[in-house]
Amino acid sequence: MMKYDVIIIGAGPAGLSAAIYSARSGLKTAVFERGLIGGQINVTEEVENYPGFPEALSGYELTERMHRQAEHFGTEFKDEEVTALGMEGLCKIVETSDNKYRARAVIFCTGAYPRRLNVPGEEKFTGRGVSYCATCDGALYRDKIVAVIGGGDSAIEEGIFLTHFAKKVVVIHRRDELRAQKIIQERAFKNPKMEFVWNSVVQEIRGENKVQELEVYNRKTNTVSVIPVDGVFIYVGILPNNKLMESRIDLDSAGFALTDDFMHTNVPGVYAAGDIRKKVLRQVVTATSDGAIAGWSAEKWITENYDAIQL
Ligand code: NAP
Repeated sequence: MMKYDVIIIGAGPAGLSAAIYSARSGLKTAVFERGLIGGQINVTEEVENYPGFPEALSGYELTERMHRQAEHFGTEFKDEEVTALGMEGLCKIVETSDNKYRARAVIFCTGAYPRRLNVPGEEKFTGRGVSYCATCDGALYRDKIVAVIGGGDSAIEEGIFLTHFAKKVVVIHRRDELRAQKIIQERAFKNPKMEFVWNSVVQEIRGENKVQELEVYNRKTNTVSVIPVDGVFIYVGILPNNKLMESRIDLDSAGFALTDDFMHTNVPGVYAAGDIRKKVLRQVVTATSDGAIAGWSAEKWITENYDAIQL
């Protein structure tokens, strides 16, 4: 069985940063990733708030740099999906569809994924007008009308991005004020292509072969209206990728991992970093910070417990 000091699950910014700190401190480190290295930020066109890059760069470029840095310090990358985490004393058993591995410490950097609206038509039209990624699909809507659902940073930022293509972007939000940061709100309110439908929720996404209209319910006036659109981008929050954690790791009521300041979970030698953690700000900068702390903490914990771990 392959043995590692540290196994990191997930290769987004948190996992890559954890790998840089772990591998650089001399630990044999592997990162497991079932999808693309870089994680969610890969699909972000411009990251303009990661310190040190005033000219902004794409999410892909930023994480590709982190990937190279982690490899430079000796991190191994494995494109296998982790299916189970077991314990044998202090030793962790990481199972994938193909193999079993032993590790002294495990760092969960499994991230999060977009919440669904769960309305009729959403699943049927996913990929045919329903999207969760403006960067991926926005260019398909040149001179078209699109709706954005949600009032958070993602909805409003991506809505602004969509105005580069669409002739009109209709933001449909369930309250009468946005949750997004003020600077982003101001940009949106100034944008002549953006319209706002307040106090409203989508009840149904309809069309023939692709999205053509939304049925929208106004919660204040109790009225139903139909908005013709060519596409709908759904940004109503994120959910944790916590499947491997459920029975063992303490989670908050929304399913995000609870850690201490050292990113340590309730299980000795098991850490969590990045979007999978309960935290106030989910950003690349906070993910890389978490990852650094987790990598550093794992090294300290392994050193202190070295003789007790039967790898
Ligand atoms: P979010 O902040 O949780 O916002 C979700 C939005 O969707 C809220 O406006 C919420 O309405 C609405 N919503 C939730 N469930 C809904 C439903 N069933 N039907 C209709 N509307 C619903 O999520 P997010 O925008 O994805 O952001 C996630 C995190 O990433 C946040 O911490 C955010 O600050 C951060 N982020 C930051 C940046 C940046 O700094 N540049 C960019 C993107 C994301 P209510 O407001 O009524 O709850």
